[in-house]
Amino acid sequence: MERICAWCNQLLPGDPGGDALVTHGICSPCADTVFSDQPLSLQNIIDRLPFPVMVVDSDVTVSTLNHQAQEVLGLSSEQAAGHRGG
Ligand SMILES: [Zn+2]
Repeated sequence: MERICAWCNQLLPGDPGGDALVTHGICSPCADTVFSDQPLSLQNIIDRLPFPVMVVDSDVTVSTLNHQAQEVLGLSSEQAAGHRGG
């Protein structure tokens, strides 16, 4: 079984055992950031996720995209912001 960081996908050392192929943990640099006393911005948090994220308001209007969503959609956050994303 491999264990990867859920924030940056870095392979973590050691075999945690078990039947699954992959499990998730957190690497030291990501833990320092995530568990620091400094508040993270929403953009900083979603940019660290390894999958596309689109943030919309209650009217399904796009507020921002993370890096992965920008890559999948071929749009910058500024280009997507203000458009309906539902
Ligand atoms: Zn990490």
